[in-house]
Amino acid sequence: MLGLYLHIPFCSAICNYCNFNRGLFDAGQKARYVDSLLVEIERAGLKACATGDVAQANVPQANVAQTFRSARRAADTIYFGGGTPSLLDAADVARIVAACRDGFDIAPDTEVTLEANPESVDVGKLIAFREAGVNRLSFGVQSFRDTELRRLSRLHDASRARAALLEARAAGFDNVSLDLMMWLPEQRIDEWLFNIDAAVECDPDHMSLYLLEVYPNAPLREDMARARWSQAPDDDAATMYVAAMERLEAAGYEQYEISNVAKPGRASRHNLKYWTDGEWLGFGCGAHGTAGGVRTKNVAAVEDYIKRIASGQSVISEARRLDAAERLGDALFMGLRLTRGIDLDAVQQRYGVDVWERYRDDLTRFVEAGLLRYDSRRLALTRAGMLLANDVMSVFV
Ligand code: SF4
Repeated sequence: MLGLYLHIPFCSAICNYCNFNRGLFDAGQKARYVDSLLVEIERAGLKACATGDVAQANVPQANVAQTFRSARRAADTIYFGGGTPSLLDAADVARIVAACRDGFDIAPDTEVTLEANPESVDVGKLIAFREAGVNRLSFGVQSFRDTELRRLSRLHDASRARAALLEARAAGFDNVSLDLMMWLPEQRIDEWLFNIDAAVECDPDHMSLYLLEVYPNAPLREDMARARWSQAPDDDAATMYVAAMERLEAAGYEQYEISNVAKPGRASRHNLKYWTDGEWLGFGCGAHGTAGGVRTKNVAAVEDYIKRIASGQSVISEARRLDAAERLGDALFMGLRLTRGIDLDAVQQRYGVDVWERYRDDLTRFVEAGLLRYDSRRLALTRAGMLLANDVMSVFV
């Protein structure tokens, strides 16, 4: 089934390390953007059908609506990413979810995730999001240490993050995730592990751990130079990663992907589509999609996006049909991110390639170095391999 990704590019302030497609919140622009998003979703639903029954069946005009309904493509995840989607009003979220239901055949147990920043919610707003159809929250916590949050120019502090997680439970959410960032400026190993312990105390169902990347033109780079902050040596970053994963496993979380852990049954179904060679459509400015072997990217600027929708133009700025080699490379590259790795028989069935035979020499080298496991026709990174994932994955690209 399809996943539907909806990009909400608005933030209350711009964090000094951020490299996402986002801008400052403006209520008027947000209203026009949401209206445009509804149009894009409606058009995409019609287009997805046009390749199916409605186009082929020579349907009488009177039956088009009914046939359209039965020809809609099925989807089972909806993901509001940003930016800061929790800046939307619950009514906006409800309209967008309704548009997805109109345009696509949305499964009854669809996972509907909304990314939220702790400072932008309260229990009333979270209840309203739930009533609008959201059933999973993903909080951008990043750290439980106020000094670190200030260095990242985040708007919340640790106590607001803890309160937001409690409010999510009070609002009835039984599927809550949080993001933490490691290798922060001046962060020591024990300080990072304090964050892990604090996160475990909050008892989320899912956690994503990201390594801070300081981009060349990020204001954080200047902040670090001015304040003489530095990041710990690479070896410490490796220790942080391994120690965190061990601590999280001891606390009942299962690592299922390089950067993600979850309690049983709580892996992100939407993100799994990216890692399991699945299909998803991206809506909104800068959103990417991959379906039917075609990868698309929408125009990045909010106003350009709104203008194109208003004038009936396509919002897709890039569309490329992937050739068989690229599709296979992507499937292997992404599949190796999962701790369960890649089922080589399934890959052979889909792409007609015996991966082990084709890459045997390179893969054997990594298996012997303890970075890869090859067992019962499954290929997976070991934890040591996850630290050097790019080296291993370069075999496939
Ligand atoms: S809240 Fe997230 S998307 Fe917005 S500026 Fe900060 S890091 Fe970027």
